[in-house]
Amino acid sequence: MTLQNYDPAIANSLQAELDRQREGLEMIPSENFVSPAVLEALGSIATNKYSEGYPGKRYYGGCENIDVIEQLAIDRAKKIFGAQHVNVQPLSGAPANIAAYEALLEHGDTILGMDLSHGGHLTHGHPVTQSSKIYNFVRYKTDAQGLIDLDNLRAMAIEHKPKLILVGYSAYSREIDYAGIKQIANEVGALTMADMAHIAGLIAGGQMNNPVPIFDLVTTTTHKTLRGPRGGMILCKAKHAKAVNKAVFPGLQGGPHENVIAAKAVAFKEALEPEFKIYAAQIKKNAKILEQEFLARDYKLMFGGTDNHLLLIDVTNKGLSGKEADHALDAAGITVNKNMIPDDPRSPMDPSGIRLGTPAITTRGMKEDEMKIIAGWIDEAIINWQNPKKLANIRASVKELTKKFPLYRELKY
Ligand SMILES: *Cc1c(COP(=O)(O)O)cnc(C)c1O
Repeated sequence: MTLQNYDPAIANSLQAELDRQREGLEMIPSENFVSPAVLEALGSIATNKYSEGYPGKRYYGGCENIDVIEQLAIDRAKKIFGAQHVNVQPLSGAPANIAAYEALLEHGDTILGMDLSHGGHLTHGHPVTQSSKIYNFVRYKTDAQGLIDLDNLRAMAIEHKPKLILVGYSAYSREIDYAGIKQIANEVGALTMADMAHIAGLIAGGQMNNPVPIFDLVTTTTHKTLRGPRGGMILCKAKHAKAVNKAVFPGLQGGPHENVIAAKAVAFKEALEPEFKIYAAQIKKNAKILEQEFLARDYKLMFGGTDNHLLLIDVTNKGLSGKEADHALDAAGITVNKNMIPDDPRSPMDPSGIRLGTPAITTRGMKEDEMKIIAGWIDEAIINWQNPKKLANIRASVKELTKKFPLYRELKY
């Protein structure tokens, strides 16, 4: 029996969501569209199998096919990033980070991580998280130019003697000097961890610095620029392999989601293709065009611009808040997210900024010409945020444009 026959409520909602994805401009920088092959592996019968343990060392029988799948995912990830060891079982980015801390640290140890409003992630020590109650997080910030000041980082590292220095961000738009940070860590005897959740695809495509050969440990999601299924992964030096594996299972998780791991393996195969380099380069080119278009229209770009796939924009000089801009753009068929700016004077639920990026619209095939048109629409929507008719007009134009870039052509629920 098909899903539509058995459970029309779910099927219809999935169809509505597919239509929404097709007809809008998805510009949340952490989102993407997986390939049909990734989708097929994700929806496969591998979901039926219990396989606690690791390839060749399982607590369940019947794992011979699952072992092949998981080993392929591991080997491909190693090849993409030049890693000595990879664990593909973390269920998502947040649990990957928790397992990484557990693998490297004792409870109570000090971690030097970036402040959330400056682009860090909740899991990097925000007071609302469980990790912040277990470890002693000290937070660094970007400087007045919006860059990471290594002299300040060194001074903080000498003062606080962290066991771990943590880089890798959710809203930061600049390149990261991993070698410079590793140097500071060596000076104070700290371990190094990079969370490349947002930029893993850009690194895989050779478009940004790769922390994997330099740092002790690197965590990532697999569903952002890397364009795989929703999930996480840990890459590390061989000397941390045992601790990492034990921290993921049995430390934190039970049975791995082998359907997701199969889909990760497919996405990693795609990331090894020459086309993926072109994709990653186009993500950056598209973000650069948006940067230029917004600067020309007097938008206030945080960190001075972008070296990656995203822009963090303070919209308050346009007479509205981040939440109001987010809502106006939604009405115009353009999905972004409201976001704090560094040391935001406003609240997290109604901050000063919006964050937007190019990974998903680049997957759809959009290039420089479309970016110029889209930047114009975003500006128009922000200027006319209180004019529902104008916003509806933009939405109609957005829908017209998206028809030229079909998404999941054959799919129907
Ligand atoms: C997205 C993100 C995460 C969390 O990933 P989830 O899959 O949502 O748990 C962790 N770290 C950074 C830097 C991120 O951007």
